[in-house]
Amino acid sequence: MFHRIAAVLVSLCLGLAFPLHAQAPAALPDLPPALLEDIVTGSRVLADFGVLDGFGHVSARHPTNPKHFLMSRSLAPALVSAEDIMEFDEDGNPVDARGRNVFLERFIHAEIYKARPDVMAVVHTHSPGVIPFTVSKTPLRPLYHNPSFLAAGAPIWDIAGEFGATDMLVRNNAIGHSLAQALGDKSVVLMRGHGDVTVGGAVKIAVFRAYYTDVNARLQAQAIGLGSEVTYLSAEEGAKADATNLAVIDRIWDLWKRRVQALSAK
Ligand SMILES: [Zn+2]
Repeated sequence: MFHRIAAVLVSLCLGLAFPLHAQAPAALPDLPPALLEDIVTGSRVLADFGVLDGFGHVSARHPTNPKHFLMSRSLAPALVSAEDIMEFDEDGNPVDARGRNVFLERFIHAEIYKARPDVMAVVHTHSPGVIPFTVSKTPLRPLYHNPSFLAAGAPIWDIAGEFGATDMLVRNNAIGHSLAQALGDKSVVLMRGHGDVTVGGAVKIAVFRAYYTDVNARLQAQAIGLGSEVTYLSAEEGAKADATNLAVIDRIWDLWKRRVQALSAK
């Protein structure tokens, strides 16, 4: 106990934020702390930006058991810490629940990891900017370079298509599978009357895409509101800009980590 208090005091005295992985997860001691920290950073920064609220989640594929994935126990994203992260199997069952509650919509993650071996991270949001585009015939398209991944397409998945009238939630594997099929090889899929899912080859990429999907949606609605024809990035421009974004993503990810550390220190 003394050592832990001393460590906190040293951190505070040095003006450092309390390290996100300081409360090392006793349940998952063999996992890289940096990966758990990325899940925490993504959860908290998206909550801080209003892309996530009390709902939504960030997950990562297990680094050594690729059929499994890692995500928080059922908790508001702003409150997620490393020790909240649990391991799930390929069907979304917790490996060692120990009485902890799990997210109802974990099947989103399970079925996308199953369908997309290239995906290493998944984010599910109910982001307010995106919702209008989930219920509109106006497709979400990239206005500028940061959301350039949208140029490859942002399909809309309608749960009613296969499952009729539901509570709109992805509450089992069959619904998750349907969503994963709609995502196809894209980076984002919109969910009619619900939200969206973004994916990427790392947590920071899926989080980047969740953030810029929301920003682009808000700006696109503004641009359409100006009343004249809107010029979007072409598919070729989108592909080129996406490659550049991925090459420099650490700049914004480092900034977001500091933002979360500052929030944690308050
Ligand atoms: Zn949801």
